[in-house]
Amino acid sequence: MNAATLQMLDTQIHKHNTLPPEAILKTELLRRGIAFAPEALVPPADAQEHQLKSYFIFSFNMVKQSELDGAAQWKAPEEVALTGGPYNLRRTIVSVRLNPASPYKVLLHQGERWLTAEGELLSRVQLPVKPAHYNCTLPDGKSAGELAPTIEWGYLIYLTIFRICQYFGEKEECQFCDINHNYREQIAAGRPYTGVKKVEDILAALEYIAASDSPTKAYTLTGGSITSKLEGKSEVEFYTQYVQAIESRFPGRWIAKVVTQAWPRADVQRLKDAGATIYHPNYEVWDPRLFELISPGKNRYIGRGEWIKRVVDAADIFGPSRVIPNFVGGVEMAKPYGFTDVEQAVESTRQGLDFFMNHGVVPRFTTWCPEPTTPLGKANPEGAPLEFHLRLLEVYRDTLAGHHLPPPPGYGAPGPGRAVFSVSPFMDVLPPAEA
Ligand code: SF4
Repeated sequence: MNAATLQMLDTQIHKHNTLPPEAILKTELLRRGIAFAPEALVPPADAQEHQLKSYFIFSFNMVKQSELDGAAQWKAPEEVALTGGPYNLRRTIVSVRLNPASPYKVLLHQGERWLTAEGELLSRVQLPVKPAHYNCTLPDGKSAGELAPTIEWGYLIYLTIFRICQYFGEKEECQFCDINHNYREQIAAGRPYTGVKKVEDILAALEYIAASDSPTKAYTLTGGSITSKLEGKSEVEFYTQYVQAIESRFPGRWIAKVVTQAWPRADVQRLKDAGATIYHPNYEVWDPRLFELISPGKNRYIGRGEWIKRVVDAADIFGPSRVIPNFVGGVEMAKPYGFTDVEQAVESTRQGLDFFMNHGVVPRFTTWCPEPTTPLGKANPEGAPLEFHLRLLEVYRDTLAGHHLPPPPGYGAPGPGRAVFSVSPFMDVLPPAEA
């Protein structure tokens, strides 16, 4: 039996002993993906159906749809919850990124689902139960689950209103982003996948959620960038109309989070006035040269300096803690542009964290998934080194503590065993909030 992966994990857990083991394994699963034995995707006869992977915005897979077997393509879960095993893991929620070649595989062991590495048992695996509204269909035949999927173990409703980005092609799309490829792949595969969701359909799907015993606490409203017009509306007009409609119908029912480009002050004010509570003008990567190369469309249309200024300006409107730009953790080291030295790459992002935290703005991360249709995914099928991700988690935790700032709001509870944010372990490494 080859236990090289287990030995590597042991080494990393020992080396990074101020990080919870849960966060180290979660990082590995997010950067290398998970494989499933087909029998592990069949619900036992007496069990409830599990919640399927919804492809809520990107593919977040390491292979194309055409490279998945039928079970993985149609029966993979949205997330897994890991517990127990040799590391005695506290419950750890991980988004599922499919990779049939991953050393991490979920299979059945004595009738139970287990995560394994090269045959060694790592942890028990629980799948999320299909939410009640996934069984509901709108009068026009659309699925409420496709319109309003939930992630983060039920905490967050993810509303990708526009599944396409108007930054188009390799010269404009962010080099890590497969939103446009994913849309084309899902349509080609025959998955119901609405390109532009109607306001009334979103409200109808939310009605089903509000009427159920859903644990949802927040929604994220997002989609691709709009550089010209969509349905005759600018980006600000297009996205703001949904917030306005949702907050008129369900005032304050959920924390209202909006992910868009960095907008000028007046537009940010308009979004706030519509009822948004948290604004995510995602910044992606701090280094000036990498920002230009990795986000060429954003750089050309808005520019790095203006983007930063707008993030800081937005803090005056929303309050600093409610402006939360995302960094794609790992692209700092992506060939051909990235740093080749882990500490230099970490130091670059630390400077970005420090800059924003000096303004009271607390960024957050998505762990980079090297999707195979993107320029950076093609050049870096292995993603970024584990060491980089772990150092970044340490630096994030310490920089936040150094600024005496709390974890960003809208992500549920921090701390190992409590965090639900599933596409990065950044919440798993923060100290649990005091009761
Ligand atoms: S702006 Fe960049 S990250 Fe956002 S959807 Fe468009 S290509 Fe993707």
